[in-house]
Amino acid sequence: MIYLKEEHELIRQTVREFALKEVEPGELERDEKEEFPVDLIAKMRELGLLGIPFPEEYGGAGLDNLSYVIAVEELARISGSLALTLAAHVSLGTSPIYEFGTEEQRRKYVPRLASGEMLGSFGLTEPNAGSDAQGTQTAAVRDGDSWVINGQKIYVTNGGYAGSIIFTAVTQHEPRQISAFIVDAGTPGLVLGKKEVKLGCRSSDTRVLHFEDCRIPAENLVGGPSELGKGFKFFMKTLDGGRISIGAMALGIAQGAIDKAVPFVKERKQFGKPVGAFQGVSHRIADMETEVQAARHMIYHSAWLKDQHRPLEHHSAMAKLFASEVAMRATFSAIQVLGACGYMKEYHVERYMRDAKLCEIGEGTSEIQRLVISRQLLGRLD
Ligand SMILES: Cc1cc2nc3c(=O)[nH]c(=O)nc-3n(C[C@H](O)[C@H](O)[C@H](O)COP(=O)(O)OP(=O)(O)OC[C@H]3O[C@@H](n4cnc5c(N)ncnc54)[C@H](O)[C@@H]3O)c2cc1C
Repeated sequence: MIYLKEEHELIRQTVREFALKEVEPGELERDEKEEFPVDLIAKMRELGLLGIPFPEEYGGAGLDNLSYVIAVEELARISGSLALTLAAHVSLGTSPIYEFGTEEQRRKYVPRLASGEMLGSFGLTEPNAGSDAQGTQTAAVRDGDSWVINGQKIYVTNGGYAGSIIFTAVTQHEPRQISAFIVDAGTPGLVLGKKEVKLGCRSSDTRVLHFEDCRIPAENLVGGPSELGKGFKFFMKTLDGGRISIGAMALGIAQGAIDKAVPFVKERKQFGKPVGAFQGVSHRIADMETEVQAARHMIYHSAWLKDQHRPLEHHSAMAKLFASEVAMRATFSAIQVLGACGYMKEYHVERYMRDAKLCEIGEGTSEIQRLVISRQLLGRLD
């Protein structure tokens, strides 16, 4: 592919090796027990994977977004959970602080996040604010040198392990104003709620977070006083970039499904032939490969656009939408061509299908991606 340089192949090799040697062996058990892999996160920190796209002076690896996307893809080829953990940490928990924070906020948080000293989280979704994220009810009230926060965020990825959480809150009702803030783990009044039990990505951490008169310093308003009321805009821009990484996760899962399906259909014999010799099977494989390659082009192109600082809103939405749906089709096909083995946990592909489903929901459902894409063409007709 025209975008790929030696550094991209190097990161692919590094993450591939790590995923095969260190991640795959315990993945079935972690999925079963819903176990968050603290030890693997520590190894990812050693490999410098937790801050790939951030400059070295901020504790990152100083590589581009394409390198980061390749790392997410390669992790997802083996573990959707770990890919989601990384994507949420980098794209959601760290990027908005780097992009929209004051220099002081950047210096305080980004080096610790990008170096992997701590994980980051992003709190946008609430019980009454899902796709319609502007429906935020969490409120921030200024009191002297502090903001006092009340409300709750749900489905916060990494929420139970994060050192900092960037979140939105209403700072004014008339006219309505939503701002972004950072809260440190352990701040009194920030109460860790239940850990969600999930269909897929079961060894990633998904939490409810309660704010109960949680007092945070005034300087934790993202971007400083001049950016009061800009939180929603910051979060939407963050999702434009974040969608590339969820798309990369979908791409990796779909590639993982091919990785499992191809050797199986060459090996498994029925009617005296490998099942891959039957057109009903081989054409499925051909369709999987074709769609995965198309998704890869879209995802890498979006990462390239981000690296060039070009507008990417509907490109990243299209890439995520397409890759997520490809991942669902590819994982269904993998189960089908493996027959009963595909239905059994030890062959991994049923886990891939469960993990892939998240990609059609997180960071905006497929319906919301279609809304973003169609509005680009049609404008707002409602
Ligand atoms: C594993 C996991 C991790 C997550 N991590 C995070 C996180 O770290 N931080 C965070 O803030 N959130 C997180 N989320 C939340 C996620 O972003 C939301 O679930 C998602 O945006 C959808 O919101 P909802 O679930 O409330 O669905 P709803 O908005 O209630 O939607 C329900 C259905 O209605 C459809 N719908 C809604 N509005 C429209 C419309 N205008 N047109 C057409 N259809 C529509 C939706 O597509 C969906 O099918 C996570 C979710 C999951 C499952």
